[in-house]
Amino acid sequence: MSLGADLIRFTASETAAAISAGEVSAVEVAQAHLDRIAAVDGRVHAFLHVDTEGALEAAAAVDASRAAGERLSPLAGVPLALKDVLTQRGIPTTCGSRILEGWRPPYDSTVTARLKAAGVVILGKTNMDEFAMGSSTEHSAYGPTHNPWDLDRIPGGSGGGSAAALAAFEAPLAIGTDTGGSIRQPAAVTGTVGVKPTYGGVSRFGLVALASSLDQAGPCARTVLDTALLHATIAGHDPLDSTSADVPVPDVVAAALRADVRGMRIGVVKELSGEGYQAGVRQRFDESVAILTELGAEVVEVACPNFPYALAAYYLILPSEASSNLAKFDGVRFGLRVGEDDGSPSIEQVMGRTRAAGFGPEVIRRIMLGTYALSSGYYDAYYGQAQKVRTLIARDFAAAFEKVDVLISPTAPTTAFKLGEKLDDPVAMYLNDIATIPANLAGTPGMSLPVGLAPEDGLPVGLQIMAPAMADDRLYNVGAALEAALLRQWGHPILQEAPSL
Ligand code: GLN
Repeated sequence: MSLGADLIRFTASETAAAISAGEVSAVEVAQAHLDRIAAVDGRVHAFLHVDTEGALEAAAAVDASRAAGERLSPLAGVPLALKDVLTQRGIPTTCGSRILEGWRPPYDSTVTARLKAAGVVILGKTNMDEFAMGSSTEHSAYGPTHNPWDLDRIPGGSGGGSAAALAAFEAPLAIGTDTGGSIRQPAAVTGTVGVKPTYGGVSRFGLVALASSLDQAGPCARTVLDTALLHATIAGHDPLDSTSADVPVPDVVAAALRADVRGMRIGVVKELSGEGYQAGVRQRFDESVAILTELGAEVVEVACPNFPYALAAYYLILPSEASSNLAKFDGVRFGLRVGEDDGSPSIEQVMGRTRAAGFGPEVIRRIMLGTYALSSGYYDAYYGQAQKVRTLIARDFAAAFEKVDVLISPTAPTTAFKLGEKLDDPVAMYLNDIATIPANLAGTPGMSLPVGLAPEDGLPVGLQIMAPAMADDRLYNVGAALEAALLRQWGHPILQEAPSL
């Protein structure tokens, strides 16, 4: 095997260690990943834009720092795939939409800036459902991403590109965003790890807003420790984001290294583990519960009686906020402009033509739903009611966390479904997020990690861990303990093997 083929299989922490020890250069690592992308991304389509020159330059800068004897930060030289909803100065940022085609933002998001400052090598921008609306990446205006485990299946969404890039060994690290599950559900169906941090834990500056009260950027990787290292790199207070929490970041890396659940109380959410889950998903989930018990945790069932209303509340709150956030895409300030030269149109006509041409059907559906829910006379019945449900869900979490340290559930009801299978049925698509949405509504953190393959189809299954706000470290402690036990049990890193591409 060539050196490049080995390098793409390293974890992020192994890569960083090899670079800082001088065993390999950051440029070689970047080149190995760029070669991998060139070899497989025609079939996977994880990337919308690959920044070959920028990546090699950033890698060369890391090598130069090392040569100058400077101390490298923990992820220096490690390649990363950035979801196309976060700005990177001078690099196309489309949010998977035609309406932003050709827009090159003049500034870095805070996440991007922190990655650059840490010497992380940004390989490119990843595909996503348009404006992060979806669970399959099929709503991208630039064509779907394919799941590396089976190219006829979806990689989850909206961050399917970031998750697929990890599973296809095109990058060891990725950034996603999670408004209702867009980090965790793609992680589940691609056999990777993804974390939605506590709301306010990671800056939203430069994250193109979908639903501002729910959106959260977060780390994705193939192992829990790598995810923790990335979390620590991007988290922390940012004065540029008024919703950013000015509190100390929990030590997620120490928690991932501790990996010890002895004496912990773990609650299985009753409402998220019963009917409606694929048999193999249930089976792997139940096995993980048994493993956590063997490891010394006390596992109990916990009721969260308002969780069944979360999906309905979310699909009022999200479209309402989205319809307002997307009003700025008017053909005047960013990207696409349509129908300007056709007669002498009014500004309203240009805006209307641009929006009709630039937005896809799912985005238009949600703008219409949101505009309706916010309209006078309906506001209290819809948006107001949904906000009350949101409070009840936060109370369910608060009551549960008096009894247990973390909650768990399967991340998604099924393994990856076939491309096209749910495209004509929005409600079936929305139901993928039934287990992930409660944490967004409450602002609490959640992780999905792989817990094996479903026996019936051989596809990855994800388990979700949820913790109280600002206790993100608990996710990593429990996740790392479970990950280590699963690897011991299988005797080989089953979920880290490159699927056949
Ligand atoms: N799938 C959910 C939706 O379509 C979640 C989106 C997200 O987290 N960005 O809204």
